[in-house]
Amino acid sequence: MIKSPRGTRDLLPPDTALWNFVEAAVRDVFRAYNFHEIRTPIFESTELFARGVGEETDVVAKEMYTWYEGADPDTTLLGAWYQQRHARYAGTVRRTAAARQHISIDISGGSDTYLVELKRRPDIGVVDRLEARKHAWLASHPDSKPPKLILAVPTSEADRAKRMPLGEVILEALSVEPGHESPLSLTLRPENTAGVVRAYIEHKLWDRGLNKLFYIGPQFRRERPQKGRYRQFYQIGAEVIGPAPSGSESPARDAEILELLATLLDRVGITNWTLELNSIGCPADRARFNEALRQALAPVVEKMCADCQRRAVTNPLRVFDCKVPADQPIIETLPTITQFLDEDCRRHYEEVKSILNAVQIPYLENPRLVRGLDYYTRTAFEFTHGALGAQNAILGGGRYDGLSEALGGPAAPGIGFAIGEDRLVLALTESAELVLRKPDVYIAPLGAGMNREAARVARELRRHDLVVDLGDESFRLTKSFEAADKMGARYILIVGETEVAANAFALKHLASGEQVTVPRAELAQRILQK
Ligand code: AMP
Repeated sequence: MIKSPRGTRDLLPPDTALWNFVEAAVRDVFRAYNFHEIRTPIFESTELFARGVGEETDVVAKEMYTWYEGADPDTTLLGAWYQQRHARYAGTVRRTAAARQHISIDISGGSDTYLVELKRRPDIGVVDRLEARKHAWLASHPDSKPPKLILAVPTSEADRAKRMPLGEVILEALSVEPGHESPLSLTLRPENTAGVVRAYIEHKLWDRGLNKLFYIGPQFRRERPQKGRYRQFYQIGAEVIGPAPSGSESPARDAEILELLATLLDRVGITNWTLELNSIGCPADRARFNEALRQALAPVVEKMCADCQRRAVTNPLRVFDCKVPADQPIIETLPTITQFLDEDCRRHYEEVKSILNAVQIPYLENPRLVRGLDYYTRTAFEFTHGALGAQNAILGGGRYDGLSEALGGPAAPGIGFAIGEDRLVLALTESAELVLRKPDVYIAPLGAGMNREAARVARELRRHDLVVDLGDESFRLTKSFEAADKMGARYILIVGETEVAANAFALKHLASGEQVTVPRAELAQRILQK
């Protein structure tokens, strides 16, 4: 039997009715706040997420579904490497990461580790990159031999590469057919903010005054599946983005987004949520904070998990993403970002809180909330819900003032959020009663030629917004009754030769058993009456 892949699932009725209810309610709320829908592709260039979300985040480093497309792999640098070099290393490829311009490979076998960069047009940056990878690798494997660093380039580039200050980097030349670009690397979107900001830049949405956008759709992350965590999951999200003069930088936008969320959760029937709020400052604050974290981590980091050891070197802020229980007491002792906010960021944060107070939205300040994605600045938040258990974050979001520039666009401060729709629905299932609209009437065609007549009657009734289902002229009447019962229809309508000739039909109310003959012209009215 073929089953749905691990971490994915089928959404079936009656649950889909709840999903539709949620989405309809959410669309109403977005309309009231003047948000408009955007639909971006389900896959994008890998580079968008590497640059937009951050290479060191768990999402990008471990969880993306990525593949190559375009050039024939046998004629690309990666293909050439596999053909010409791979067999020489007595090891396993642990990781291949590719952006458009370079490919990184980790190989470990026996006591040796090789860190490889493939680069069609090598520049000095690639040597720095190898050095940085070596440091990160050593930090997470403290007792091991240093890895060997390898730069593989096409033969035609080898002479140029030799003239670069290579240090300990070993150069390898690969014969590659000329003129073939490296394959295009594509990724299933693990989140939608980067895609929305890309579209904002690509279509110059600032020119059209479109700066409040929402989306509803699937996202993909290769996480360990469990209740409330899937590999294909759905997010409902929104972004306010635009040039600073449009007001996109104002703390009023942050407060509006948070108030919208409170309204939205209330509207769909989620009570007992908690809003956790923090400010993670601007890049300058973060640089000071990261430095303080590095110092605070230095004496304790060896007691922490391998991921934290790597983070402590590459991006200390990400230590707060750690879920390992043994690390938590150490994380508790680390400094918090609050002490490092500059005057502007502090004022921004105070203003957000004062508007929230004015509109009576309760919140809990959590100075350790940093969110798992690199692009956030200033306001960061999560709404949690008790009934969800371990995966209790129902939504998260924050401000991302530098994201557009990081993706090559103009300055465009913004703030957004993503609700986990699966978790929202899960929280509702705990409380809500599912109301599926059942058929108003089941039409039972009786005898040869009656499918045609039944189809005509069904068409007339459906025009009156009735829910109608149909049997088949080959069914005996008892079979039609059983079918009508099973689907919970209110009425059964019999369409036989006599009825058609008289232009009046037998209509039976299934619960009471009461049966009447109703002229064709009055059928819809009669059924609508209940
Ligand atoms: P993030 O994009 O990581 O900020 O996530 C925003 C929200 O999406 C979270 O608060 C969750 O509700 C939801 N979410 C994230 N990852 C998953 C997943 N693997 N399965 C289900 N929901 C998820």
